[in-house]
Amino acid sequence: MLISGAGVAGPALAYWLQRYGFRPTVVERTPAERMGVGGHSVDLFGPAVDGRITLVGDAGYSPGPAVGGGTSVAMVGAYVLAGELHAAGGDHIRAFRGYEDRMHEFVRLARTIGLATMKSLIPATASQVWLMPRLIRLVTRLPVPLQRRLSALQGDPARALAAITVENYE
Ligand SMILES: Cc1cc2nc3c(=O)[nH]c(=O)nc-3n(C[C@H](O)[C@H](O)[C@H](O)COP(=O)(O)OP(=O)(O)OC[C@H]3O[C@@H](n4cnc5c(N)ncnc54)[C@H](O)[C@@H]3O)c2cc1C
Repeated sequence: MLISGAGVAGPALAYWLQRYGFRPTVVERTPAERMGVGGHSVDLFGPAVDGRITLVGDAGYSPGPAVGGGTSVAMVGAYVLAGELHAAGGDHIRAFRGYEDRMHEFVRLARTIGLATMKSLIPATASQVWLMPRLIRLVTRLPVPLQRRLSALQGDPARALAAITVENYE
């Protein structure tokens, strides 16, 4: 199995695949580890499966034009794809069908995240430009349980990310 891309989804998929006994190979285009640089938001807006090839993470289902949840969606996608390949005994046709079925509703909801995040995170006034980075820095220093409670107040994005219950494939 060849995994193209060692961003978020690629290594996560490789981890789960090797745990289920597969031997994946990961190739990466960039020569060095990316430090502190986000991914590129690409979305093909079509089926994420073509023959023996399927897409994971942003390449298959970027949550949208603004930041928010892309890494979570990529990690869930990697976990579900590896799990479906395991459950199907390596039969990729059956596994890809299960992967799309299980991801469909989660991806649909995840696409609401970008728009909701744009409304709340992109500052509209000079005072918001000043305040927003300070608030974000403050939130990351709070205890994790409190961060979770604050994140739940975000409404739609938080609900979208909590909308998938993943199977235990082991
Ligand atoms: C500025 C910015 C800020 C973001 N902030 C957040 C955030 O706060 N929270 C959040 O959850 N998400 C955020 N995201 C989104 C998040 O970065 C992505 O959703 C996530 O990286 C998707 O992971 P991925 O593995 O699908 O893609 P990527 O992380 O983009 O990895 C894809 C990898 O494939 C490699 N590649 C591409 N073409 C080839 C090729 N032909 N051969 C081999 N390798 C190839 C690339 O070099 C890259 O390393 C942000 C994105 C951006 C751009």
